[in-house]
Amino acid sequence: AHLDRVEAVEPEVGAFLHVDRQEALDAARRADEDRAAGRAVSPLAGVPLALKDVFTTTDMPTTCGSKMLEGWVPPYDSTVAARLREAGVVILGKTNMDEFAMGSSTENSAFGVTHNPWDLERVPGGSGGGSSAALAAFEAPLAIGTDTGGSIRQPAAVTGTVGVKPTYGGVSRYGLVAFSSSLDQGGPCGRTVLDAAMLHEVIAGHDPMDSTSIDAPVPGVTAAAREGAAGDLRGVRVGVVREFSGEGYQQGVLDSFRTAVDTLTELGAEVVEVSCPHFEYALGAYYLIAPSECSSNLARFDAMRYGLRVGDDGDRSTEEVMSLTREQGFGAEVKRRIMLGTYALSSGYYDAYYGQAQKVRTLVSRDFAAAFERVDVLVSPTTPTTAFRIGERADDPMAMYLADLCTIPSNLAGNAAMSVPSGLAAEDGLPVGLQIMAPAMADERLYRVGAAYE
Ligand code: GLN
Repeated sequence: AHLDRVEAVEPEVGAFLHVDRQEALDAARRADEDRAAGRAVSPLAGVPLALKDVFTTTDMPTTCGSKMLEGWVPPYDSTVAARLREAGVVILGKTNMDEFAMGSSTENSAFGVTHNPWDLERVPGGSGGGSSAALAAFEAPLAIGTDTGGSIRQPAAVTGTVGVKPTYGGVSRYGLVAFSSSLDQGGPCGRTVLDAAMLHEVIAGHDPMDSTSIDAPVPGVTAAAREGAAGDLRGVRVGVVREFSGEGYQQGVLDSFRTAVDTLTELGAEVVEVSCPHFEYALGAYYLIAPSECSSNLARFDAMRYGLRVGDDGDRSTEEVMSLTREQGFGAEVKRRIMLGTYALSSGYYDAYYGQAQKVRTLVSRDFAAAFERVDVLVSPTTPTTAFRIGERADDPMAMYLADLCTIPSNLAGNAAMSVPSGLAAEDGLPVGLQIMAPAMADERLYRVGAAYE
């Protein structure tokens, strides 16, 4: 049924870069057989899923939305893909994304834009817009995204779906093509908090192949989602981040947020206002740290080891081939990030830019630590506005970067955070997201509060 739905809506939505009907049907059949034979199967066995095209898969290309990797079929499965397969989850295909996960609209993909199913003239958010659009268009009930600065939560917010950035290190990065290694984190997406929780438990957990993977039991997120569904938040302390409101926020987003806070109070939560004074510098710090790490990570695309190679006619030097390939293989935003990053890391500028940004990162973490002494979770709008029109911010990187204003602090600190649907904005009828933030290793709090709220 989902494959039929994909076929019907893809011409308009464009969420997928690759769908393998036969592989999907075979995987579904195997899940059915396992269940019929009484073999122990995960509750998600046989459930279809849309996988962001930044995770390596041996049976499908992995392009990261880049010409650089067009048609590249990796020789190994990412840990996330391997765990999905082990659980019998059916990978329907790979979803569209901003090139190498750099963007907030999915307009930076080399393979075309994805449309928001709520309004086809609008973006589905980014960089994981393909995954969120697939959920919102009912092409798949589950999806996987990655969140470096908001790319799970921001698309979830603007498509009316649920997206979770687990604690950094909670989900293995092995086989997740690196953008900014100290920030990148894979996570679950769904249409309900419980669905996301069940998927979280399938993909999370220690992996010796990722040196930053946390070696501790996976938080009991499914139990927390079930507990939260009872709608009782008595004893839970919720902090409203004072800095995330006011100028630059759409009225309907602020109204929805105010209503959400009232709802949390009605459910029994104790709500207080909390100040996180350094959050306003988080965006600036992120746009130095993420490009710096990206400039280093993307050096591997050297025309020798993977994918595209341009101009290798026997007369050109290795350097010329490398340079031609990178010129033609990378899109404008990726080039901008590489230039910003190499500049910020260059000698003489390192202390002023990269070093300074790392100090801000520490201050943001301290703000969180102080806040979490007083409250169990923090809340804010996920995004300052609802989905914007395709093309509207394409020539204005600053406007595009502002889409992640509220999501970036949790990445800098390595905390867990979720976006859960929070109704529609009055002025445009488009979905709004409520962001819930929890300390590292306390992911279950997101699910308890999120399930109570949804
Ligand atoms: N929009 C942010 C960026 O472009 C976040 C991207 C992400 O989380 N992958 O860097």
